[in-house]
Parts: sequence; C-alpha cells; structure tokens
Amino acid sequence: MKEIKLKHFNGLYNIYIGENRIEWIGDYIENNGITNKKTKFCIISDDIVYPLYGDIVKKSLENKKFHVKHYILLHGESQKNLNTVSEIYNYLCENQFDRNDCLIALGGGVVGDITGFAAATYLRGIKYIQIPTTLLAQVDSSVGGKTGVDLPYGKNLVGAFYQPQLVLCDTNVLRSLPENIYADGMGEVIKHGCIKSQELFDALMNKTISLTDMVYQNVKIKTDVVMADEFETGERAVLNFGHTVGHAIEKYYNFSKFSHGQSVAVGMVYAVKISHILNLCGYDLIEKIIKILNIYSLPINTGEKTDNKNLADICGGDKKSENDFIKFVLLEDIGKYKFVPVNKYELTDLLDKCDKLYKL
Ligand code: NAD
Repeated sequence: MKEIKLKHFNGLYNIYIGENRIEWIGDYIENNGITNKKTKFCIISDDIVYPLYGDIVKKSLENKKFHVKHYILLHGESQKNLNTVSEIYNYLCENQFDRNDCLIALGGGVVGDITGFAAATYLRGIKYIQIPTTLLAQVDSSVGGKTGVDLPYGKNLVGAFYQPQLVLCDTNVLRSLPENIYADGMGEVIKHGCIKSQELFDALMNKTISLTDMVYQNVKIKTDVVMADEFETGERAVLNFGHTVGHAIEKYYNFSKFSHGQSVAVGMVYAVKISHILNLCGYDLIEKIIKILNIYSLPINTGEKTDNKNLADICGGDKKSENDFIKFVLLEDIGKYKFVPVNKYELTDLLDKCDKLYKL
C-alpha cells in the first residue's frame, strides 16, 4: 500500500493507493481522525458502481459503528448537472445531514465531481471523501479538488475548488472496468508521462509497470502539480497537454464520436506535431507518441479530414484562450514541456500543416 500527502492552502490530506483497500475504508477514516462517532455518512454512487462495491464500503463503515445512508444516481455525464445536485441537497436535508456529516464519492469522475460540488456547497461546505473507481478518476479527477457540474452551455461551467478529506484508490476495482473506459484513463496516464516523466513513459511503452505503481506514479505527478498551483493560476495548466485540440475534437463531433480520453489522445498528437512544426522537437517525438497511443488502443487521428477552420474556432472559444492567443502546452522532449501562445488566427493553418505531416 502506498501513501501520498497532498498539502493545500487549508490543510493536508492523504491519498492511499493499493489493492483490495475499499473494505478498509472504515479504518482509514478512523485513523485519519476525519470524523467522530456521531458523524453520518452518505455514500453517493451510480447505478453501475454501487451494486459492485457499495455494500463493501457500507459494511466497512458499519463495522466501525458509523451511521450510513446511500444515494444512487443514474450513471453517465448527462447526470452531471444542477438538477442532480439539487436532488442530493434534498436527500441530505430529508435525512438531517449537518456540518458534522460527510459524503463519500464512490464512482468515476462524474460521481466525484458531483459529490465534491454538493459537499462544497451544502451548508456552505461539509466534508467529503473520494473513492475513485475508474482509472481516470484515480489518476486525475479525484485528486486536486476541482469539483463541479455541466450547464447546457458547456462542461464544468459551475464548480468550486474544494479538497476532500481523504482519497482511497483501490486498484483492484479497476478490473471490472469495460475496456473502453480503461483506455480512456490511459489517455491521461500517457499525458502525465509526456509532460512530466520519461521514466513513466518508458515503463508504459515497455509495459514494465504494475497497475498499482502506475496509479501511484500518476497520482504523485498530479499531486505535485496541484501543490505547486492549487487554484490553476499558472503551472497547473500543464495538465492541459493534448486538451486544447482534444476538447475541440470532442465538441466538433458533438461529444458522440470520441470519448474524452480518445479526444485527448488525438489532441496530444496534434500538440506534438505543432511542437515539431514550431521547431521545438524532432520528428521522432511524434513517432514515439503515436507508438504509445497505438499500444494502448487510443486513436491518433480523427480518421477523416476535419474542417480545421471550425476546429480552430472551437479552440479559440475555449477557456484557455486569452485575447487572440491560445496557451498551448507543447513538448521539447518527453518530460520537458513549454507553454507557447499560438495566435488563434494562425491555428487553422497550423492544423492543416499537422494533417499533412504524418500520413497513415
Ligand atoms: P464516469 O464517471 O462516467 O465513469 C465511466 C463509466 O464507468 C460509468 O458508466 C460508471 O458507472 C462506470 N464505472 C465506474 N467505475 C467502474 C468500475 N470500477 N467497474 C465498472 N464500471 C465502472 O467517467 P470518468 O471517465 O471516470 O470521469 C469523467 C468525468 O470526470 C467527466 O465529467 C470529466 O469532466 C471529469 N473530470 C474531472 C476532473 C477534475 O479534476 N475534477 C478531471 C478530469 C475529468
């Protein structure tokens, strides 16, 4: 079992990573002194995850004589909205949850983001714990305190920075993930290697890393980035590597053709191609990234000619755009990144050049 401490402006919390850990959640809570015996817990989960792991978590808490309720959402991104949060508030009120009580997010990034936001806002903030059950949630969304929901106008438009009391990553639960959801998380794992760690990148390329070590190294990278820039005023934006064009691809296809992880994979290929076109890196870096994405069954292009003017316009309308410039995270080498402002009016041309660069 591995442990990482994340220090934030308001305190510190532990992140535990290991196999077969969720049955010990009651002990982790007790040992971390998060609550007292009067604390009520509400496990928030979805209709796929709760039947798999809900009873294990509940039993572990009840063994410690905690009072436990649960609230189950339908699964999927479409639930990540204010209506769901409002229903959670109602449930908490009906069950007299107060400031001494605690929410537990048991699920993927959707459950984690919703639960964190409900915890941040109910009674102006109650405690919460993250038990992430997808690879993406373990290596990315459960760590760092970004919580929130979508609006009809776009994803993650309402939210709060609000840190959990504890994160428990049980790598064993990842074994029940459908292949495509697992591959999605690998997009973020490969991203972390690209921006921060040659060692991780090589281990992934050669498949010489265990699941628990992989999650650990990724959480460590994410934790270090978050601790250096908790509120994303600067360096944390490095985590956007592959996301600028990636998000645009998701939107371009109306969130239907490619999942988030797949879009980020294609976005990383664009980012490294742009890096090469701007003379930041050699052509071999593009080949390396394409090779690793192939190994993990992630796409390297959209499979068809895109309307790059449209794609560039979507990038320009993204949160990462300032005035006429889009802040791209580009690569000089594996583990060596650089922030480069790209004029949004020159982006169509750059994307066209990318498309001509590597013919498959
Ligand atoms: P998700 O939460 O929708 O989970 C994907 C699917 O896997 C769901 O159907 C879920 O029921 C199922 N599932 C979860 N765990 C399972 C398990 N162990 N076994 C079997 N099935 C399981 O998707 P996700 O990819 O985990 O998260 C995506 C969300 O995360 C998006 O809303 C995104 O905006 C958010 N996100 C947030 C941050 C952040 O910093 N807060 C970062 C990245 C992404």
